[in-house]
Amino acid sequence: MGRQHALLLPYPAQGHVLPLMELAHRMVSHGFTITFINTHFNHARLLSAMPTFCSNTNPSINFISIPDGLQPGDDRNHVANLCKALMTIMPLHLEELIIKMMHEQPEHDKPTCLIADETMAWAFDVAKKTGLRVAAFWPASAATFTSMRNIPKLIQDGIIHQHDGSAKTSGPSGEIFRLSPGIPMMNVNHLFWNCLLDSESNKVIFHCINTNNESIKNAEFVVCNSFYEAEKPVFDYLNSSKILAIGPLLSGRRFGKPAGVFWAEDTTCKAWLDEQDVNSVIYVAFGSLAILDERQFQELALGLELTGRPFLWVVRPDITGKAIIDLPKGFKDQIGDRGMVVQWSPQQEVLAHPAVSCFMSHCGWNSTMEGVSNGVPFLCWPYFADQHLNQTYICDVWKTGLKMISDENNMITKDQIRDKVEELLGDGEMKKRALEMKEMATKGVDKGGSSFQNFNTFVSAMQV
Ligand code: UDP
Repeated sequence: MGRQHALLLPYPAQGHVLPLMELAHRMVSHGFTITFINTHFNHARLLSAMPTFCSNTNPSINFISIPDGLQPGDDRNHVANLCKALMTIMPLHLEELIIKMMHEQPEHDKPTCLIADETMAWAFDVAKKTGLRVAAFWPASAATFTSMRNIPKLIQDGIIHQHDGSAKTSGPSGEIFRLSPGIPMMNVNHLFWNCLLDSESNKVIFHCINTNNESIKNAEFVVCNSFYEAEKPVFDYLNSSKILAIGPLLSGRRFGKPAGVFWAEDTTCKAWLDEQDVNSVIYVAFGSLAILDERQFQELALGLELTGRPFLWVVRPDITGKAIIDLPKGFKDQIGDRGMVVQWSPQQEVLAHPAVSCFMSHCGWNSTMEGVSNGVPFLCWPYFADQHLNQTYICDVWKTGLKMISDENNMITKDQIRDKVEELLGDGEMKKRALEMKEMATKGVDKGGSSFQNFNTFVSAMQV
């Protein structure tokens, strides 16, 4: 058996690149050579965040890039435009790349398989055409995956419209349903494709998912960044030896290795955390895409001030969508050393730090898995995509967090922020359950655990 050479293709967003990089590291430790294919745009971002990224990562991982189909100044956070461009331009570039590698690489180093983000299932058709084996990488929950695969059922049951996937029943609060007993309750308005950044994106992504539902049949496996114990009823419902939970991939154990971040990490917060009391710091971060409106941003600052507790707050340079970020007047003086604001943190290390008491989060799936892996309870502040369903897991299924709820002005007020922090930190049972989840997650990835075994099944099968 020769050394296998896998091409890894992430969807070009931070929350997809990071876990696929982790998969790349794990595959290398099982004897694979990896070619990691970023877009030109993201490749440049990775290098600007860390100039030594490509040379420091791992000699068995080679980084290359192809165009994403957009112009340099285009908004890459506009999901509909990005997806349309990717589907139009990338298949040709990917095919050319694979053919070139097949011709130019020595026999022992030719690519053998492609592992692509499930949201780019067109890549599976390209891989099939060029004779590569195919697997899909799913970076979110199995529950979200299941909702997408069940679109035909949702149409048949009269829950969504066939033409655009929108709710059939009108009303702002949305119909609540369950796909099967034990599977988390879902709200039709919060289905992945019904709550993206704008209605055009909703439509485009709904059609994209329908296409993916066909192309994914070409994949031998779907490896999912979740763990069986976290979503047992969903994996049992899926009942497929093809769908393997191998997470949490970002377990915080790989400290020191460049992970593939788009913003330079401010590591000074680690020394600041070292100086704080155990279990005292509120960690606040909203991932890589969520935008807070200006008023809400100010209110959050005032709320953190009001808690009177230490906090570490990630304020991404684009968090309000504006070029200049205004903290409330006098905020810094009021806070002094009690709070630290950074543009981008080494989040996995932060969450693993004993000083952190809770995680105020937008509930992106990576952040969810990272909080769970570290036994940190959540204050949930979801925005879009799968974040509402992830909140359901945290608050209603695992019961390791509380929901932040907007008032009649669509605001999460400073008083609520203070009250929810107090309620969460005063609830010893919540922390106990968070630690139980941590134990399950850890057992899953440890030798003999469910994710460990699934990962071995996957790599062994791809090596035959
Ligand atoms: N992240 C980080 N530093 C930060 C904020 C986020 O390293 O200051 C990482 C975080 O650890 C996670 C990813 O960015 O792995 C965000 O992914 P997630 O799925 O949580 O949210 P998304 O960005 O996709 O909305």
